[in-house]
Amino acid sequence: MREDLQVDVLAIGAHPDDIELTCGGTLARIASSGRRFGLLDLTRGEMGTRGTPELRAAEAARAAEILGAAFRRSLDFGDGGLRTGRAEEQELLEEIRRVKPRLVLAPFPQDRHPDHARAGRLASDAAFYAGLRKIETDHPAHRPQQVIYFSTMLEHPPQFVVDVTEFHGRKMEAIRAFASQFHDPASTEPATMLSQPSFLANIEARSRDHGMLIGVEFGEGFRSIRPPRIDDLFGAFEGFEPGF
Ligand SMILES: [Zn+2]
Repeated sequence: MREDLQVDVLAIGAHPDDIELTCGGTLARIASSGRRFGLLDLTRGEMGTRGTPELRAAEAARAAEILGAAFRRSLDFGDGGLRTGRAEEQELLEEIRRVKPRLVLAPFPQDRHPDHARAGRLASDAAFYAGLRKIETDHPAHRPQQVIYFSTMLEHPPQFVVDVTEFHGRKMEAIRAFASQFHDPASTEPATMLSQPSFLANIEARSRDHGMLIGVEFGEGFRSIRPPRIDDLFGAFEGFEPGF
């Protein structure tokens, strides 16, 4: 996977697996439509109770392949205390300029886990500052059209939902690539919230819930600071009340 290619979408997560759990279906859908996306983890997940950073890196690479990512990169901003200083902001800004995404996907900047909230704020700030020409780096200024937020643990009611029904299977396969994190009856590692058998069922339930809102089986909901422009008002609500 080449790492210097321009992408349509850059998905940013705090920890390896954040992206798969929240917007994997949307990304698989983007790839299937011929558009390109890249994945950027702001930490290596070194504070995770289960697995090692090396194992998680191998799992993350496999998951990226399953979703059809153009590349996956990892920064090292510190798991469990994700740093958001000027140095980190500049590093992320440079990543954004390097791959010139039209859209950035990032965690909603409020969550139970402070790393998720910090990642969301940092991504928003870096995406804006990346467009300021007078901040000079190795790459020319570039500002994504919008930062789109996904909920991580705490749910923030979606403002719009992407139909991922066709891509739900691939999303779950990408999530299961992180075998060290999720339920494995043979594992001797300590149990975590993520390793409970119910965790993946909950992920699926949220996707079903978001799908229900738009009248499909599986959906992924998002928020953004500015609302999306709808060109086809009828198309946007097609099939919401079948039979009427
Ligand atoms: Zn996380």
